[in-house]
Amino acid sequence: MKKIFLSLLSLILVSGCTNLNLEPSNSSEREESAFTPSSDELVAHFIDVGQGDANFIELPNGETMLIDAGIASTGDDIVEYIENLGYDTIDYVVSTHPHADHIGGMAEVIEAFDVDAIYMPKAVSTSKTYENLLETIQDKGLSIKTGKSGVKVLDEDNLDIVMVAPSSDDYSNLNNYSIVLKITYGDVSFLYTGDAEEESLEEITSDIKADVLKVGHHGSDTSTSEEFLEKVNPQYAVISVGEKNSYGHPAASTIELLQEYTNNIYQTDLNGTVVISTDGVNINVKTER
Ligand SMILES: [Zn+2]
Repeated sequence: MKKIFLSLLSLILVSGCTNLNLEPSNSSEREESAFTPSSDELVAHFIDVGQGDANFIELPNGETMLIDAGIASTGDDIVEYIENLGYDTIDYVVSTHPHADHIGGMAEVIEAFDVDAIYMPKAVSTSKTYENLLETIQDKGLSIKTGKSGVKVLDEDNLDIVMVAPSSDDYSNLNNYSIVLKITYGDVSFLYTGDAEEESLEEITSDIKADVLKVGHHGSDTSTSEEFLEKVNPQYAVISVGEKNSYGHPAASTIELLQEYTNNIYQTDLNGTVVISTDGVNINVKTER
């Protein structure tokens, strides 16, 4: 009799949960998670390098990742920034694509740190900066891993890093070769888009819902579309962009689109370096200014 009662009770509880699942609000989604906040934080640094990208990530498993390394003149600043955080090793270096505003300081960084793995897309450039970078990688005795959609960098219990683009291997615009990465820690995820334009972003079929979006191509109007933002649904957006840059980045239309999703929009030209940390549940933002 006791057993039947318990079964009935569990049925009621199960149906209770089902009702909860139908609740559309964000807060109930959070409550459903089995992940409890951790004392090990993920800290994402969006380093101000003027008109370029440099993203350093302290992972909760103790490893580190650098996605892009700014322009040539900021190579030493990036080295100093990472050294000041207390690291002499970068476990994963990702060069999203071989444009000088993303690989400019990378040779200097690779020379300064022990590097375990380097990921690059299958795209080439004839620029001196790129050739110099390849030489540095070779001199260090490192080999390059191809970055493309489906590549898993990390697949741990509560920490996943997966590449969701590029999906194709032939684009006319070098920006579209950009490696796009999704990092998920507990309930919180980050999407790093490099300079990927709409053509590549539209090809993504995997789940790209993310709390924090590193906005594509310095906020240009050729990267962030309404359709893309609908899939990402960002709560925080960071635009890595130089003050008074000649490209007119970020586009006013991109800011307006982002504002439909969030008012938590940060720009490195206005805020300086932006640091977003999470315990896997809660998100905390600090800015230089
Ligand atoms: Zn760029």
